[in-house]
Amino acid sequence: MEEAKHFIGNEWSAPAGGDTFAVIDPSDGQPFARLARGNAADIDQAVAAARRAFDGAWGALSAAERGRLLYRLALRVGACHEELAQLEARDTGKPLRQARADAAALARYFEFYAGAADKLHGETLPYQSGYTVFTIREPHGVTGHIVPWNYPMQIFGRSAGAALAAGNACVVKPAEDACLSVLRVAGLAAEAGLPAGALNIVTGYGHEAGAALARHPGIDHISFTGSPETGKLVTQMAAENHVPVTLELGGKSPQIVFADADFDAALPALVSAIVQNAGQTCSAGSRVLIERAAYEPLLDRLASAFSALRVGPSHADPDCGPLISAKQQQRVWDFLSDAQHDNIAMAAQGQVMPEAPESGFYQAPTLLRDVPPGHRLAREEVFGPVLAALPFADEDDALTLANGTPYGLVAGVWTRDGARQLRVARRLRSGQVFINNYGAGGGVELPFGGVKHSGHGREKGFEALYGFTVLKTVAIRHG
Ligand code: NAD
Repeated sequence: MEEAKHFIGNEWSAPAGGDTFAVIDPSDGQPFARLARGNAADIDQAVAAARRAFDGAWGALSAAERGRLLYRLALRVGACHEELAQLEARDTGKPLRQARADAAALARYFEFYAGAADKLHGETLPYQSGYTVFTIREPHGVTGHIVPWNYPMQIFGRSAGAALAAGNACVVKPAEDACLSVLRVAGLAAEAGLPAGALNIVTGYGHEAGAALARHPGIDHISFTGSPETGKLVTQMAAENHVPVTLELGGKSPQIVFADADFDAALPALVSAIVQNAGQTCSAGSRVLIERAAYEPLLDRLASAFSALRVGPSHADPDCGPLISAKQQQRVWDFLSDAQHDNIAMAAQGQVMPEAPESGFYQAPTLLRDVPPGHRLAREEVFGPVLAALPFADEDDALTLANGTPYGLVAGVWTRDGARQLRVARRLRSGQVFINNYGAGGGVELPFGGVKHSGHGREKGFEALYGFTVLKTVAIRHG
């Protein structure tokens, strides 16, 4: 990997504008690497390289051959597991064991999509006599991928992995705050034998390289993961060229705990769903809705668990790492100061470890109780380790609260009542519902995406391949 360079056409290329910027280690707030500051000219080059690959060596491969190359990439990622984990931990601040899990998930994405590449096909359709009609699933062509900083490896893997398996050539604009692992994997892809231009990475700021990619007339599809505001901008830019967009925009995901639930099973899942990645997870379980009869006892147990949490630098492998940046830290502080101003009670808070440098971006996990449903802490994505607890009266009340935000990404339901599990799962407006678990351990195989302001389109699983293809209908009249 060469820092401060883009990866275009299987070569490391200096930024067209000659500018670079610093990469900050969130654990100590200090710069430790540099990235190329991409602009429209770099994006032009990357899109042209991708088009050449699509029209040339990459596009000429059979689905089985694409799958074989992706499998070789999966093996290389697996062989570099620890190196990638260390890089991701330093770059994002996430605890080492989380970064290791992310590196394993990245290899698994390439493995899964390697196996899926030659299992994607069209159908033969019954039609009038004298015709044979069939559909062909074709790649879009050149796909753009705008990736956030919270899970650089995983989100890159799920998005580019599926797009490549379907036969597209990719241009990826990872986040300016964290993307060293993505550059490293691009190098591994070339070593694995991906033809030049099949996978291109242009680093840089969103309003420069990101916007240049979203509005580029040479791309055929764009996949975006990040904030709703930027998602709207990306959609508007892509609309200029009528380019289809897949959006994954985060959430305010509820965990609904009924009084009959197994609290011993629920408790660790409630904590990890908001503490994982310091709450900077699109599917973070950031609201806990508790049936009133169980509210105080469960809140007591949650408070004890939160008080025991330790926040520290990534290499110390703490319960919770720092936030990604000073900007993100300020955003979380603004939410917490609103809570204080509006007299929302703090039920518990974890502690920052003594070895955490003062210059790092730390925020102790915080449990807030009795958050009013209309308050921004109950409705907006904090993207930090802040859990809002709300009581509910009955099933209808729980569903009104759960569905009562602009978002609809993930929901957790904790109850032993089987009929209630099914009723509630059906009535939740959410892209995923987990019953008596939260997240099912990641689930590369499980389609993922939102409704409402959480976005549209599905990533992960086989379903993602449909989004990265277009259907062509062929009708033959033979009499
Ligand atoms: P963002 O949405 O602005 O950034 C995500 C990606 O979009 C980055 O690669 C960025 O460079 C790119 N981008 C930014 N502006 C762009 C533009 N005008 N055109 C094209 N691409 C652009 O998010 P952020 O500023 O890093 O974080 C702000 C908030 O967004 C966070 O506090 C959090 O609430 C939310 N967020 C959500 C997710 C998620 O996974 N759902 C990820 C990151 C951030």
